[in-house]
Amino acid sequence: MRKISAHYILTGSGVLLKKGIVTLTDQGVIADITDTKGELNEIAGLEFFSGMITPGFVNAHCHLELSHLYDLFPEKKGLPAFLKSVNELRNSDPAHITDQARKGDAELWQNGVVAVGDVSNTNKTFALKVQSKIAYHTFVEALGFSPGKAEKAFSMASDAFNEARDMGLPVSIVPHSPYSISRELFDKIFTFSAAKDTILSMHNQECSAEDDLYLSGTGEIYHHLTQNLGLDLSAFRPSGCSALESVIGWLPTENNLLLVHNIRTRQKDIDLIGQARSLTKTWFVICPRSNLFIEDRLPDIELFRKNNLQICIGTDGLSSNKKLSVLEEMKTIQTHFPDIPFPEIVTWATRNGAEALSMNKWAGTIEIGKRPGLNLITGMDLQHLRLQPQSKVKRLI
Ligand SMILES: [Zn+2]
Repeated sequence: MRKISAHYILTGSGVLLKKGIVTLTDQGVIADITDTKGELNEIAGLEFFSGMITPGFVNAHCHLELSHLYDLFPEKKGLPAFLKSVNELRNSDPAHITDQARKGDAELWQNGVVAVGDVSNTNKTFALKVQSKIAYHTFVEALGFSPGKAEKAFSMASDAFNEARDMGLPVSIVPHSPYSISRELFDKIFTFSAAKDTILSMHNQECSAEDDLYLSGTGEIYHHLTQNLGLDLSAFRPSGCSALESVIGWLPTENNLLLVHNIRTRQKDIDLIGQARSLTKTWFVICPRSNLFIEDRLPDIELFRKNNLQICIGTDGLSSNKKLSVLEEMKTIQTHFPDIPFPEIVTWATRNGAEALSMNKWAGTIEIGKRPGLNLITGMDLQHLRLQPQSKVKRLI
């Protein structure tokens, strides 16, 4: 048994304990939580840390498979240019891809992450995920805007799904985004996911050119698909609606759904999503540092709060981020949205992510019986409960 205390303990569900004590079994399972109300007496064997303790972080959106693209792309060039770069540079020596992904996994662990929703287009990260100390949910991402290639795209995704499942990894097949999946491919994902009740994830409203494609069959994404990818879109008929409105009905309503990025999400979009599916089964993943890297813009997080949306935090991949650190994402949120209370941001980084990935039986909150891991955040302004530029995270468990 270990008894651990610090200046503050944040449980992940918004509760703040001043100098509380967490008792853990040798396996890291929480056996007891004591609210000392700030009055900590001498207790034999108690480990006291300077700083704030939180549950282990949950990174709701990452692409370990793109770790080898670290520091290769120019920043703030917009999504279409980013997609072009990924397409041009993602192919590399498989051993190099796996090596860099392994380093990414080690970086996540070092930065206090216990669980990850990770996007895979191939099987290159499966073996390392099996060996990792981190719990992964793998989103095998289907890709294909040509209706004629839906069968092949789905069959490739199915092969990866089966391989991951056979290796014991929690896994689902998901659409990459509205602008990269044909209606035919969406339908295949729908049937498969509805039957298996798997967790869904989709990049959503990352740039305005997604809407140009669906509204009028024009714009930079259209250009990317036809010019960079060489697709024949002559059979594509714009719906005349936004990208989100066009495809939201093509996703099963009962599955958990993680909508990722949401940079352009407005009230009318939230209303639309709320009409199409239950918001209790929908999570809004924000990846602020990636958003600044690619689009130089952040989602309207205050609007999400006003609507009581379930917010999660993701790092995205190293192709659009310098670090795989949930703490750095929280710092960015706090810098740009200084009025959001820190305990609330921590619930996004812990409990909400665990719920979205269906890992909340063991992760996300400091509760008796769970094994969430414990992080110590040091270098905080403890008087105002705020992160500072020099704040760091250290794993205690
Ligand atoms: Zn992504």
